[in-house]
Amino acid sequence: MSNSLNRRQFIREFTLGAASLALLPNLARAKQRGGLVLQGTPKNVVILGGGLAGLAAAYELKKAGHKVTILEARKTPGGRVRTLREFDDGLYAEAGAIAFPQSHEFTAGYVQEFGLPTRLYAKFGLDSLASIRGQVFRVNANTTVPLDLKPSERQAGVFGLPTFYLDSFIRDVGNPRRASWPPNSLRALDSISLQQLLQQQGASQAAIEVIAASQLGLLGYGIDAISAMDAVVTEAIARDSAFYEIVNGNDELAYALKRRVKKQFRKQAVVLRLEQTANGVTVTYTQGDEVQTLNADRVVCTLPFPVLKDIAVFPAFSAEKQRAINELKLTPITRTYLQFRSRPWEDASLNGYGITDLDIQNTYSPTLTQAGTRGVLASYAGGQRALALSAMSETARQNLVLQSLGDLFSGLNRQYEKGVSQIWHLDPLAKGGFTYFEPGQMATLLPLAQRPEGRIHFAGEHTSAWHGWMNGALESGNRAAEEVNLA
Ligand SMILES: Cc1cc2nc3c(=O)[nH]c(=O)nc-3n(C[C@H](O)[C@H](O)[C@H](O)COP(=O)(O)OP(=O)(O)OC[C@H]3O[C@@H](n4cnc5c(N)ncnc54)[C@H](O)[C@@H]3O)c2cc1C
Repeated sequence: MSNSLNRRQFIREFTLGAASLALLPNLARAKQRGGLVLQGTPKNVVILGGGLAGLAAAYELKKAGHKVTILEARKTPGGRVRTLREFDDGLYAEAGAIAFPQSHEFTAGYVQEFGLPTRLYAKFGLDSLASIRGQVFRVNANTTVPLDLKPSERQAGVFGLPTFYLDSFIRDVGNPRRASWPPNSLRALDSISLQQLLQQQGASQAAIEVIAASQLGLLGYGIDAISAMDAVVTEAIARDSAFYEIVNGNDELAYALKRRVKKQFRKQAVVLRLEQTANGVTVTYTQGDEVQTLNADRVVCTLPFPVLKDIAVFPAFSAEKQRAINELKLTPITRTYLQFRSRPWEDASLNGYGITDLDIQNTYSPTLTQAGTRGVLASYAGGQRALALSAMSETARQNLVLQSLGDLFSGLNRQYEKGVSQIWHLDPLAKGGFTYFEPGQMATLLPLAQRPEGRIHFAGEHTSAWHGWMNGALESGNRAAEEVNLA
């Protein structure tokens, strides 16, 4: 590991899940994981979506004695927690969620409850790379960063720059589970972009470009287009000293949950229509060629809002709810994974992680913690870059990524074997990677997103303070289960 990065910075930079906590007044949060005690008579609950939010809601409601049915359009559970296993020698890569910190009580809690083995998502002794303005450099103690940084910025180091400029605000974030949270100083940041905040703080142009190339630049359409409040909380949540992954793939968590609601899980069940009356909700869905209906006392809807937008709802949701559904967006994400016969980057003491201003944006090695000779390197792009990469053919995309990776990591070309892409914004069941907030959105849309509409309750990362994290999905599933139990 480079001397210029402390262990925490290294792991934070290596944890590529964009995520943040929303800083909103009166935000409903799950009081705890599980522990529901049946209130009144058991209810008949239909859960739309079998990602982590839907699975957690189903599991907790079932344990409390309610009758649940999960309708999931895919063949498999887990939604955006999916592990790609098409690589050789048993190697795998995450299509979505990569790692989680111990402070994420819901993720860590379920992982522990189900006895899933985890390991640190890091490998020490290897350097990361940066490529900014055509300058490629290792990020370590001996690097003289070839950019026009101020002396204080040089001292902060490449990966220390976001903290250097956001620290005073990050300190205000505190514990988002406290009732008094968030402080007004943080709420005020919702009206400006991250770039504006950095400029106000006196950041040099070069420092702004470095931060734009870092994982913060993966959120939405870049640092000039996301809420500064969103960015500050994203940094705050990345302050854990360690991040973990589930051994053999994070989809083990989805399967562990699904095993506990096996009989209640209807796969390839595509929800088409919701009709609500004073007495219940009728859900229309297709399974195979058949159109079917289910009547429910309560519905928990975990469908990402860009997907929900196309579902027929009668009577229409309230105007405010519909505004949240229409305006809340998910970041376009394209990941391109290339398998290589060997790992020349590790031979060169590089971990594969790179921050760049190139078309491929961030790079990382999904196989870093997996044993083997072969290895996988990936490009991880968000926003406009993700859209541009996804507009290319698979072959053209892999060629471009191979060429760019080859410029960063020597010795790759002769080792390339095959590749695959994961394009979240083109997945009709997700329509994006993870929620982000534009300036002015965080304080208004999140409370609306989670507000129930009659007998329909809402969960999913987009409704949680921990949006963009598995923890957000699981927390929101627990919160919706609690709402249903108490209703
Ligand atoms: C690229 C990427 C990187 C990430 N990195 C991290 C990370 O490092 N760490 C971390 O903790 N989190 C990370 N996350 C976030 C995490 O994966 C999500 O927050 C979480 O998985 C969302 O779960 P969910 O249940 O809210 O939504 P989903 O998983 O999207 O579940 C919704 C479900 O609804 C189903 N569905 C959609 N339409 C219909 C329909 N009409 N009928 C029936 N079912 C339907 C979908 O198939 C899906 O299964 C990442 C996500 C992405 C995409």
